Amino acid sequence: MSVRLDKKLASTGTKFKLFSQPRFLQSFREPETVYVSLPPGQVKPGPADDRMYVVDAINKRPYRFFQGPPYVGESNPPVQPGPDGHFDHLDANSREFACATMYATVRRVLDIWEDYFGRRIEWHFSGSFERLELIPLIDWDNAQSGFGFLEFGFGRTANGTIDHSRPYAENFDVLAHELGHSIIFAEVGIPQQPTDDGIDYGGMHESAGDLVAIVAALHFEKVVNVLLEKSCGNLFMVNELDRVGELSDSREIRVAFNNVRMSEVNDEPHDRSVPLTGGVFDVMVEVYQKGLVKRGLITQDLATRSTQGPGGSTDLAGIADEFKAAYNGNEAAFKEELLAARDYLGCLLAQTWQSLTPDFFTYHQFLTRLLRADLKLGGAHQQSIRECFAWREITPPPGLVSASLRKLQSCGFHPAKPPASLADVDEESQRKPVVQAAAE
Ligand SMILES: [Zn+2]
Repeated sequence: MSVRLDKKLASTGTKFKLFSQPRFLQSFREPETVYVSLPPGQVKPGPADDRMYVVDAINKRPYRFFQGPPYVGESNPPVQPGPDGHFDHLDANSREFACATMYATVRRVLDIWEDYFGRRIEWHFSGSFERLELIPLIDWDNAQSGFGFLEFGFGRTANGTIDHSRPYAENFDVLAHELGHSIIFAEVGIPQQPTDDGIDYGGMHESAGDLVAIVAALHFEKVVNVLLEKSCGNLFMVNELDRVGELSDSREIRVAFNNVRMSEVNDEPHDRSVPLTGGVFDVMVEVYQKGLVKRGLITQDLATRSTQGPGGSTDLAGIADEFKAAYNGNEAAFKEELLAARDYLGCLLAQTWQSLTPDFFTYHQFLTRLLRADLKLGGAHQQSIRECFAWREITPPPGLVSASLRKLQSCGFHPAKPPASLADVDEESQRKPVVQAAAE
């Protein structure tokens, strides 16, 4: 969601509180206020609206294959809004808070991505169900998303029992990632060809879940502030994870800021997703750095040396010092550029995802669609995208390269034989083109 629209929602939306990162982390102990796009009064008890509803099921077993909504068993009463129509009055240690958090997270992430798509994102299960069912707290040490529902339990303790102090329903990253899968099911679809192994499709799906989550997480003040303060604005250094302190524990941060290439991963979807996510995120960091250079906040030389591509320097400590000097006193300007780059990435991904087709999908196709999406947005970052993907070793498949080589004969033409002597050249052949059609 753009900075501008986000500001507008603060005066028109319904208020909730939620934790952007696990609450046991010192910097994230207090929940942050977020606004969902519906005005107070339109979020009904549950919470519920026209796209989703929470049902706080009691004594429910997890849905099994071919089971699903609507849940009709025993449940707690719907969570009520305060007298002003907002839901920010709930005790952060109550069951009601977890219910409201699950709704607010999913609704907020959907709001953010619908803004980048510029339209409503329809559910892929809309042929069967009108709304997404959210079940926040079942007695289970796992979580699952299925056809028309998200159903969450709890984390595990060190000795393998259910850890009731860590409900997945309060884990922003996990919920946002699962909603990311729903967006891809809706916008891209599922491979239909039995001969398609879908290896890159699987990697793209996991990557999309992570990218949906990280872009959404960058809408939290605290996440953005900690990221910039700890790195002094040098985001290419974030993969030295100790630099971002507590954010190092965030799976989404780890996945976004990685330096893994295609030659280092296998076909397992999560593993394969890592270089794609990293390549896409590098594009955002490049755009952010271009913004810093344009405003004179850092030099082009420093930007070039801080990348992992050509021109990158190994003097990491020296670069860190230069960023520190540039960042101090210019914190607000660095933040503006990061949020602008975030919004560019959101729009770029929305354009790209909606243009993909699922059958025989490859990462190289993703790259070509990403380039087209950038052209639609003004085309300012074509070379950055190519370079980021080349570094990740996302290259054209060999078949595409060999099939692209077309000699004249491949096209049904053949070069004309040179005449034996000038005397052999009659008037008519002089009028013929050098290249003649083979059918002649
Ligand atoms: Zn996933």
